[in-house]
Amino acid sequence: MIEIAQEPRIENDIQKKLQTLKDEVIKSKNTSSEVQESVEKPTIIERATWDDKWSQIKEQYLKKKLWETFTVEINGKTYTKTADILPYFDANLKYENLKDAYKRIIVHHSDTAAQGTAEQQAKIIRNLEIWDRGFNDVSYHFIIASDGTILEWRPLGRVWAHAGETKEANDAATKALPGGTPDIAKTTGDEYKKKLLSYVDAMKKDPDYGSVGICLVGNFESNSWPTAEQQAALTKLLNRLKWSYDIPSDNIIFHKEVKTKVVEASGLTLVSPVTVCPWKSFTETEFQTIKTTLDKDSDQAKKKSILLN
Ligand SMILES: [Zn+2]
Repeated sequence: MIEIAQEPRIENDIQKKLQTLKDEVIKSKNTSSEVQESVEKPTIIERATWDDKWSQIKEQYLKKKLWETFTVEINGKTYTKTADILPYFDANLKYENLKDAYKRIIVHHSDTAAQGTAEQQAKIIRNLEIWDRGFNDVSYHFIIASDGTILEWRPLGRVWAHAGETKEANDAATKALPGGTPDIAKTTGDEYKKKLLSYVDAMKKDPDYGSVGICLVGNFESNSWPTAEQQAALTKLLNRLKWSYDIPSDNIIFHKEVKTKVVEASGLTLVSPVTVCPWKSFTETEFQTIKTTLDKDSDQAKKKSILLN
């Protein structure tokens, strides 16, 4: 069984927890006799292996307080960012393990050309997200390159933006923190924790919470399709994540399905621009075919709703 501290606290050492999360993926077991004890773990290229900027980017994950600044250098220029990526365990005291936290998996395309090696494809997206779009880090947990290589991106257990925003989450966050999230950074101790939790509680109406993000490299609008290697890798990765976190097959969806299947079905309002991600060249039929090859839902998975709570 997974052993996670019963009372995780913000002060806990984040690096240690990241290792615990990695171990959890390996150690966790289903209790249902109907499902496999374990499923094949696909080869995943670790972030430190492919990303030459990881030593700088990961600084934010090691901060003991959110909204502290960190810097990244690229092409001789220094970018200053603030560490505002929420961890499940340290910020959100509700969850004791990721099996409770993760309810769905959302599949995207990168909308970038699938050219060069897997590493080069990943770096193009990293640069686009961090340098051009101004984010702190890439938005997804995994990327699958056109040759089927799976690369690790955002550490599992961290929340960021890939699924969309709701009006209700934004309204609740504004109500909880009229001065905005920087107000949290001005506080310390119990006050810091109180403000942080009020913000996290508000943001639970946001579909990024509880969602693992997987991105396939390519623009599937019209001029490219997910390769056979990508689809095979996606199948393996989905099966492993489904088993690791007890996620039912019905809760594995395209990005464009978040609006109706998650947000509107929860009685909420999506305020993000309407997306067609991952576009039409990755068809619902192909996606459905992949999902039908996955292992059957565990008993725990069957109880998991796709809705926001
Ligand atoms: Zn998307």
